Amino acid sequence: MGSLLIDGIGELTTHGPQGTLTGAALVIVDGRVAWVGPSEAAPAADRRIDAAGRAVIPGFVDSHAHLVFAGDRAAEFAARMAGEPYTGGGIRTTVAATRAASDDALRANVGRLVAEARRQGTTTVEVKSGYGLTSKEESRALRIAGEFTTETTYLGAHVVPEGVPADEYVRLVCGPMLSAARPYARWIDVFCERGAFDPDQAREILRAGLAAGLGTRIHANQLGPGEGVRVAVESDAASADHCTHLSPADIDALAGSGTVATLLPGAEFSTRSPYPDARALLDAGATVALATDCNPGSSYTSSMPFCIALAVREMRMTPAEALWAATAGGARALRRDDIGHLDVGARADLSIVDAPSHVHLAYRPGVPLIHQVIQGGEPI
Ligand SMILES: [Zn+2]
Repeated sequence: MGSLLIDGIGELTTHGPQGTLTGAALVIVDGRVAWVGPSEAAPAADRRIDAAGRAVIPGFVDSHAHLVFAGDRAAEFAARMAGEPYTGGGIRTTVAATRAASDDALRANVGRLVAEARRQGTTTVEVKSGYGLTSKEESRALRIAGEFTTETTYLGAHVVPEGVPADEYVRLVCGPMLSAARPYARWIDVFCERGAFDPDQAREILRAGLAAGLGTRIHANQLGPGEGVRVAVESDAASADHCTHLSPADIDALAGSGTVATLLPGAEFSTRSPYPDARALLDAGATVALATDCNPGSSYTSSMPFCIALAVREMRMTPAEALWAATAGGARALRRDDIGHLDVGARADLSIVDAPSHVHLAYRPGVPLIHQVIQGGEPI
């Protein structure tokens, strides 16, 4: 692998003790950051990239994505934009298409989306199951997800399949389906919402996952107020995702916990819903992450720069807070300390941005600014 020097960096965001440096350089050895400092003091390396004054940022950590699916729901999106409300019921449409798809078709779709995300600076992506809803289909989805990422999440509790009593389905999710999913999953997740799983069912599902050795995360408080965030904090979940409808008590609970509030503004954009109150969470001291929620129904974007732009414009986060949430925040939501920052020793996942500073990610929305992506020390 050898060493790689990136010098001439106009602005280097480390998210570590060295903070943000200008006129900087960074040396990578064996896939890890080995040296960070002023460009003129940089040691020599086997290979060199001249950043020519561009900004360098940590690779994006997209900690919430539903990539194992078939079909699309463009017609549903168009209907919603024409005034129909979002209910989450469209998930069943994707379940039918996913069950009917071959392994190769699912694999090709995940590969396409992971590559699309990487071109936009994402170097770590979490991938959920949840469009199979049988033991065989959920384990198949996770096996395919595992070909692309180590951050695989069992979401058998996405929605109760049509014609199955909810209690019976919860027993399946906590029993045989969990056993089938377990070899391929690192996390368990549950959609805790009216019309999906209630708080007691969510508790039972997360407890079963914990007992099987999985980490926990939860879809909480997306469509309305509820107990989802409380369930997350009680069970020390790594992340409570969506957090669109929070009470002051929910915000305090998150701020006093090890649970990250993961905000998914692509979902509010695509369902024309009010955005979460990121400012209240940040001001209370909660840890905030940003992720895409990439899925064919409620947020069909793989773009972390788009989510950053939304967070800054619509959720009153500063550009620096949004970048932190999209990198270091995502890493916290996955309980990882080797990614999301560029300190010495970190995994060398980074992007060279075709702009003099990270601010341009929000200042120039919709523009493909990611100039080059380096993943595990290797230029892509
Ligand atoms: Zn989701």
